[in-house]
Amino acid sequence: MQVPLLDLKQQYKTIKEDILETAQEVFESQYFILGPKVKALEEKIAEYCSSTHAVGVSSGTDALLISLMAADIGYQDTVITSPYTFFATAGSVARCGARPVFVDIDPHTYNISPDLLESTTQSMTQSELSKLKAVIPVHLYGQCADMAPILEVCEKHGLMVIEDAAQAIGAEYNGKRAGAMGDFGCFSFFPSKNLGAFGDGGMVTTNSDEFHAKLLKLRVHGSHPKYYHQLVGGNFRLDAFQAAVVSVKLKYLDRWTNARRENARHYRSLFEAAGLTDRVQLPVEKETRHIYNQFVIRVKEKRDDLRRFLSDAGIGTEVYYPVPLHLQECFSDLGYKTGDFPAAEHAALHTLALPIYPELSDDQMAYVVERIKAFFLKN
Ligand SMILES: *Cc1c(COP(=O)(O)O)cnc(C)c1O
Repeated sequence: MQVPLLDLKQQYKTIKEDILETAQEVFESQYFILGPKVKALEEKIAEYCSSTHAVGVSSGTDALLISLMAADIGYQDTVITSPYTFFATAGSVARCGARPVFVDIDPHTYNISPDLLESTTQSMTQSELSKLKAVIPVHLYGQCADMAPILEVCEKHGLMVIEDAAQAIGAEYNGKRAGAMGDFGCFSFFPSKNLGAFGDGGMVTTNSDEFHAKLLKLRVHGSHPKYYHQLVGGNFRLDAFQAAVVSVKLKYLDRWTNARRENARHYRSLFEAAGLTDRVQLPVEKETRHIYNQFVIRVKEKRDDLRRFLSDAGIGTEVYYPVPLHLQECFSDLGYKTGDFPAAEHAALHTLALPIYPELSDDQMAYVVERIKAFFLKN
């Protein structure tokens, strides 16, 4: 049996007619950049994420970058984030000229630890605190970071909050949607995200009218009106075609999210029935609506052997992420070393993402768990 990590062709089959129809509209209109399709998607995403505004941008990475720019973060500023995330989170901080400061994760949720965030800010000198401008909590794998204590620390020190919600569209924390709790929410429509485009795309949400106006300008090289530049922005525009595709897919998102959540429940019962819960740590669901962009298990040892074994059995897996950001070569000048963030380093060595996509069948999940059991019988 083949069980790919993700099978977008199956999803496409179910929405093909809708997609072809909307694509034809875009092609006939010959209106490709921004425009009514983008505006319509922005309104729908703002509503879906219970935010006041949404601004379509070119990618999740650019959503982060433009938010940092709107918050006036740059040279000599520092921004706290997690060392256990996709590179773009800290990469955008560095790209706008600021310096990422890492705070270790909670080993159960893989999200930034509010306790360590608090102790890190407490141990900063006045001069360090004056440079600290923002925190980027990442809602990793589709589960919101523990936002209440994070927001408290940020409020206390006057820090901006930029939610990296690239993996978490529709996730909830205490009834609040991801992206609606901070000053900015950053979303990605990269095809492997729960709401994926047919290419790159992203969105920034905000509840601030002022930031909304600034984001709209920064997206088009800081100009308003056209050719009159008040700010230096960039080309952070979203294509009409991508917006049209995402608008169609948004109608199915809750159905897909429920299927992912149902698959997670099914995996749990399979792992329990197979007696594997002492060998495999299952995802810890702390928040009310984990949307399972990834279903990530932690194995005590031989993670890479298990990965090869599953691959030989036709099962796709992935390691998100093998190198924590403080140990990336490009950040060596930040002065971090192995041992600085033990929870992130441990996760990087021991976690494995299993297939969780909505169309996955019960038979496929049973096969995945059966093969994991077979591996542990031999190892
Ligand atoms: C995917 C992702 C991004 C970047 O999104 P792109 O659309 O690929 O630029 C940023 N942060 C996290 C946590 C992501 O998973």
